[in-house]
Amino acid sequence: MSQREFKSGFVSIVGAPNVGKSTLLNSLVAQKVAIVSPKPQTTRNRILGIKTTPDYQIILLDTPGIHEARGDLNLAMVRTALATLDTVELILFLVEAPNPENPNNESVFAALGTVRTDVLLVINKIDLVPPERLEEIIPSYESRFHCKGFVTISALYGSGVDDLVARIVALLPAGPAYYPPETMTDISERFICAEIIREKILHLTSEEVPYATAVTVSSFKEIPERNLVHIQADIHVERPSQKAIIIGKGGAMLRRIGQQARLDMENLLNARVFLELWVRVRKKWRKDPQALREFGYQ
Ligand code: GDP
Ligand code: MG
Repeated sequence: MSQREFKSGFVSIVGAPNVGKSTLLNSLVAQKVAIVSPKPQTTRNRILGIKTTPDYQIILLDTPGIHEARGDLNLAMVRTALATLDTVELILFLVEAPNPENPNNESVFAALGTVRTDVLLVINKIDLVPPERLEEIIPSYESRFHCKGFVTISALYGSGVDDLVARIVALLPAGPAYYPPETMTDISERFICAEIIREKILHLTSEEVPYATAVTVSSFKEIPERNLVHIQADIHVERPSQKAIIIGKGGAMLRRIGQQARLDMENLLNARVFLELWVRVRKKWRKDPQALREFGYQ
């Protein structure tokens, strides 16, 4: 029997904030599922992306950055991330070529020392460094922990990504397809829409506002005969001053957030979107276990 066996497995992407985890996930599954932002620590929830072919199924977990815990929200993230790492088939440790001294890598090295799962080192953003620099960077990582080898990529431009996929598949065990082949993500469209709104807030506002913001979708109504989706979402902030920033002068900021989010949603849903946004103050929600659960942070 020369037929190759179908391979499958869960793969965690770990790495310091901003190294390109969400960009890689999106490039691997070719659909916008994780939010990408130039600001660090934007991925709070565990997001799943799935790549299926006739030969394999890779189920990707966009694990939030494992970094020093500050506050209840971060502690919960670290716990979720570590628990995930021990149950997956493979860990992709993503680092960035331009910044090998990134102090945030230290906590990842420490975390990887506590798990037994195989690790593949992925060196990202190679478009930003000359090739000869890479030859110095690679050994500096390889000497720090035990890994199954390395791959160099540019997640943003897609170079090296096919090679990365081949290496992942080679390290996966034989196994079944856990999800139907057409599934690219098991998170709902509803959740992705909330993430799109949060992404716009991250891009359009500054300082403490993005980190104090959570978004929930309270209503998601499809009206197929009009090819329309009616979405109501709540933007939760911690203080009235933050609410004022998000609403902006005469509502200008909220309109921009809404317009940009609506365009992305229309692309995602292939329908016209009618979007209603409400800004609500929930005092100290980041320290409130009840609110953290309601907003989807477990
Ligand atoms: P995460 O915090 O690890 O999820 O990082 P993101 O995926 O949100 O990316 C952080 C920033 O790095 C964004 O501005 C990306 O566009 C950028 N980025 C990601 N991958 C690459 C790459 O291969 N090359 C370059 N030049 N920029 C990248
Ligand atoms: Mg991210």
